[in-house]
Amino acid sequence: MQALRIHAHGGPEVLVAEAVPDPVPAPDEVLVRIRACALNHLDLTLRAGFPTLKMELPRILGSDIAGELAATGEAVLLAPGVGCGLCHACLAGRDNECRRYQMLGYQRDGGYTELIAVPRRSVLPLPSGLDLTTAASMPLVFLTAWNMLVRRARVRPGQTVLVWAAASGVGIAAVQVAKLWGCRVFATARKEQLERARGLGADAVIDHYDSNLPVARAVKQLAPEGVDVVVEHVGQASWEQSLRALAPNGVLVTCGATTGYDARVDLRFLFSRQLRLKGSYMGRRADLDEVLDAVAAGKLRPVVDRVFPLAQAAAAHRYLAESHPFGKVVLAI
Ligand SMILES: [Zn+2]
Repeated sequence: MQALRIHAHGGPEVLVAEAVPDPVPAPDEVLVRIRACALNHLDLTLRAGFPTLKMELPRILGSDIAGELAATGEAVLLAPGVGCGLCHACLAGRDNECRRYQMLGYQRDGGYTELIAVPRRSVLPLPSGLDLTTAASMPLVFLTAWNMLVRRARVRPGQTVLVWAAASGVGIAAVQVAKLWGCRVFATARKEQLERARGLGADAVIDHYDSNLPVARAVKQLAPEGVDVVVEHVGQASWEQSLRALAPNGVLVTCGATTGYDARVDLRFLFSRQLRLKGSYMGRRADLDEVLDAVAAGKLRPVVDRVFPLAQAAAAHRYLAESHPFGKVVLAI
């Protein structure tokens, strides 16, 4: 099969098109013909590399995959992460806490190619009416947002939630998941994307580049006590404002650090305001069924910004990094 692999970390040019052997499914695995693979910021991070990264090379990137079972042609979506299936965490349904958890496109080969072998439990049948491109744009970000809000922050109806970068994959998902759970949502975006953020269902929108009105102050104008939950995935650039925006006993839940990971916490505010900081990594396989049901019912709407052919994956990486897409960038295969 044809695949795009990286043999070294670096710029988009390290994505190399080459012929590789077809994957051979293990006894509990199925072979899937890939039709669409969505990009995530993770792909850019893994491609570029970072000092503490341990990653086997060469590697095929791509965590969000939709396609067809090679044997039957049935349309399917793949879970972006795979637990070992045997440990206590996996058997308890918390596979994203598995010590041997593997993400497609990271610890095992992903979707920038034509075929993939995955465990049978990774496969979700695609509901009718959901096309493969839209389906591929959904799993990682919606599962992440679900895990952040439902599992980690334990949101309840009537709570107020601040979502950073509502134009991003996780942001688009988090605004919708928070609304689905009956929350009041404030969403940040760059000025020209504020109206689209509102269109996702946000109750109020905040320009996160307005130097005259820092986000935490904008939040306090809308909710003087602060917010119950902050959905944080931006990192260093937004961290301080995230903490300042929290109400007493509020929860900051984070799943990423796109702008840097060297954040600081003023412990005086942490203890006196009884704040809670929570990490979130991917989500439970069983929750993906629930997310997909909500998408099929039209309660959650994945947003695709642009589709590139697989051969133009390097251009797609540049586009995601530089062009401020609203929604997901997807490779058609
Ligand atoms: Zn396990």
